[in-house]
Amino acid sequence: MKTEIVEGWPQGHEIRILITDTDAAQVNAIRRALMADVPKLSITRVDFSQGVTQDNKGEIVESVNVLPDEVMAHRLAMIPVPTNPDEGLSFPDECSNCMDVVEEDKGCPMCQVLYTLSARGPSSDSEDEFRTVYAGDITTISDPVFDIREEHKTIPLTVLSKGQYLEFYAFAVLGRGRDHAKWSPVAAVGFRPQQIAVLKDAKAAKILFDLGLKTTDGSAIDAKLFGKGKKITDINHVLDLEKALHQVGPGTGRDGTFGEAIVMETVENAYVFSYETDGSLDPVMAFNMAMTELAGRFDEIKGHLQGALA
Ligand SMILES: [Zn+2]
Repeated sequence: MKTEIVEGWPQGHEIRILITDTDAAQVNAIRRALMADVPKLSITRVDFSQGVTQDNKGEIVESVNVLPDEVMAHRLAMIPVPTNPDEGLSFPDECSNCMDVVEEDKGCPMCQVLYTLSARGPSSDSEDEFRTVYAGDITTISDPVFDIREEHKTIPLTVLSKGQYLEFYAFAVLGRGRDHAKWSPVAAVGFRPQQIAVLKDAKAAKILFDLGLKTTDGSAIDAKLFGKGKKITDINHVLDLEKALHQVGPGTGRDGTFGEAIVMETVENAYVFSYETDGSLDPVMAFNMAMTELAGRFDEIKGHLQGALA
């Protein structure tokens, strides 16, 4: 199996990877490893402060808001927590400090990241009726490398009215997507056979070229894009063209004229693999981690087989 990042990617958290010399089963194993096996950090426990309290101006505030605590905890769990395997955090059940202690005592700086939030609704003399609490209001108590990323700070968590407050400590630990979706670092993971577009009939294809469509990088979709060989092999352009072909497909009224003017040919044993991460992991890092997870699993099977057959 050979892998190669498609030119122009990653874009933000999205990536396209060309995997050759493989089959659909192998590529699907990578897909599943990315979704279910690649570890990432996620908030898994929240301790809410509860009760009625008085602030220094004598105003009474109560620990209620529009959301029940369970929903709040779920919203916190879904915030992408920056994860980097180089930080050397352990899984809670593999942590040398916490391995042998009872469940409620588990958790130490080696296996968890600590966050806190303290917010209250507008004061009684304020013109605002309510205030929105965002992921950006969360403070990291552990290392600042785990600070919620700038792009995720605008995730709204809840709304506080006058006389309400929200205060909690939240604990993030490493986990895997197979145990809960909050630990799955990727979304929209898919793959398709690599294709090459072949221009068979430039005259009939004119009905498409005359539409003035462009590829995502701004090139015009016309006969020139196919070049002298009358073929498009560039993966990004082929995918753009595939979308453009919907404009001349069945139901458009153009399909009769267009016919088979452009034909897609499938490349054997080659797949275009694409996904995006939730922002907790860099997409390239996530891919490498998926490969490590897979390799580890096969080593394990090999060991079992050798043990069984010895
Ligand atoms: Zn620990």
